[in-house]
Amino acid sequence: EEKLWQFMLRLKVPGGECPGRLYEVLDDLCENYGQQDLRMTTRQAFQIHGIAKNDLKHVIKTIMDAGSTTIGGCGDINRNVMSPPAPIASPLYERARYWTAMCAELFVPQTDAFSELWCDGEKLASIQYWKRHIAPVDTKEQELAVDAKMQALMRSDASVLTTDPVEPLYGSTYLPRKFKIGVTVEGDNSIDVYINDIGVVILEDGSFNVLVGGGLGRTHGKETTFARAADPLCSATEEDLPLILKAIVAAQRDHGNREVRANARLKYLVHTLKIEGFKSLVETYVGKTLDSPKPMKPWKYSDWMGWHDARDGSLFLGVNVEQGRLRNFDDGPKLRSFLKDVFKNTDAAMILSPTQSMVLRNIKPAEKTLVEDLMAKHGVKPIEEVDPLVRLAMACPALPLCGLAVTEAERYMPTMLKRIRSLLDFLGLDDEVLVRMTGCPNGCARPYMAELAFVGDGKASYQLYIGGSPVLTRTGFPYKDRCKVQTIERDLEPLFTMWKDQRTPNEAFGDFVSRVGKDALLAYANDFSPK
Ligand code: SF4
Repeated sequence: EEKLWQFMLRLKVPGGECPGRLYEVLDDLCENYGQQDLRMTTRQAFQIHGIAKNDLKHVIKTIMDAGSTTIGGCGDINRNVMSPPAPIASPLYERARYWTAMCAELFVPQTDAFSELWCDGEKLASIQYWKRHIAPVDTKEQELAVDAKMQALMRSDASVLTTDPVEPLYGSTYLPRKFKIGVTVEGDNSIDVYINDIGVVILEDGSFNVLVGGGLGRTHGKETTFARAADPLCSATEEDLPLILKAIVAAQRDHGNREVRANARLKYLVHTLKIEGFKSLVETYVGKTLDSPKPMKPWKYSDWMGWHDARDGSLFLGVNVEQGRLRNFDDGPKLRSFLKDVFKNTDAAMILSPTQSMVLRNIKPAEKTLVEDLMAKHGVKPIEEVDPLVRLAMACPALPLCGLAVTEAERYMPTMLKRIRSLLDFLGLDDEVLVRMTGCPNGCARPYMAELAFVGDGKASYQLYIGGSPVLTRTGFPYKDRCKVQTIERDLEPLFTMWKDQRTPNEAFGDFVSRVGKDALLAYANDFSPK
């Protein structure tokens, strides 16, 4: 007799955009076929856990019929494309949405196998809503026109193509490993742009900077694997950008490591060739010299929580969701009921944020009080009442949902944050610290960019990774292994005390530990006696 297999389904949700109607469908699916909750991922996508094998086909087809997809949610191809969760009606942010949709469509796999398996051969069950950023798609004809435009773009430029007739860009063996793209506007690092294989930055002068070679997954004790922040590769005009993006993908396709899977991400190719060598490689596909990257405005980190003016007459509202879990919690917010009520009473839509929270957009100013009343009714806290530690934090699902987890993350994070808050209070510190936690070193919650991270390395034990910047521009460093949960304050108190006593005015925790370095921190901790 066959085991009762159950699966996790991950949707591809470019830029995190989710119309109210799609949310209602997903809510229904998680109620009837999942585990009565939805999880918003760190890459602005939805995961539905606990789907029985026999229900998979129905659930996938229902998602496709609702205008979304699971194609490219997983696999050694381009994954969900990230974008700032700010629905601002400005030329820069509109271009970010356009290029997010372009990057999603340009690298869609072409095989019919998915639709044959899951959709009875129907290639596209319905109009996919994010294409409207490329061109209007109110009718099937308009959608086909966008498809034709993207097909032409994908199949142009012989220098980047393989001879495979079905997958001209990916080739018959696809990419060596998963591939991630993020698009943002200069100055707005809400998407953690440096962790992507390709980061596209839209500059105020209308051109683009292209960053390459970011990626976080690593293995404990294996020096050949490491977290890496992306390097600036080049600047580009709008006309040249598609070819440059395809050339980077082609370079990874042809030169990425297919022998050792742990070293297959683009970051290892960029690291091996150095950025100059990788640039020369990309130039062989582009057929000309790439322009140097342009200077950029300093980065800011914004999670876009709270109320904002969308500059088109509407408002948007960022709502914190702890660890991205959308559920009606017995002893906490009734998030699913809140969203149902919002979508029933307004024309709002949803954007999943890169930090597992959500933005509700398209709220009329006259509906602001109604939405606030619904928040109060369902126990959803306004952002002013959320502890900044909680607001900034992220954790991956880990146990019991992820087969790679060696310890807890999502389930333990609320307790860990309370313990950190108590320790900071005890030391008289009221600063924000960006904390992340994962159940293994794979890095799904981007721990290596955090100021303070807990990376699971055993049962109830974590490697402490510290020194990322508050604006997410560099990786931290491993400070100490096998720190036991039970006694975690013993490891944290010397770090926080040294920071308090020796920081420059307003110096952030991550900046401080990065400046003084691991040796000085360890020496201080060795001599430290708790108060
Ligand atoms: Fe990712 Fe590891 Fe967390 Fe699983 S346990 S979700 S692989 S970081």
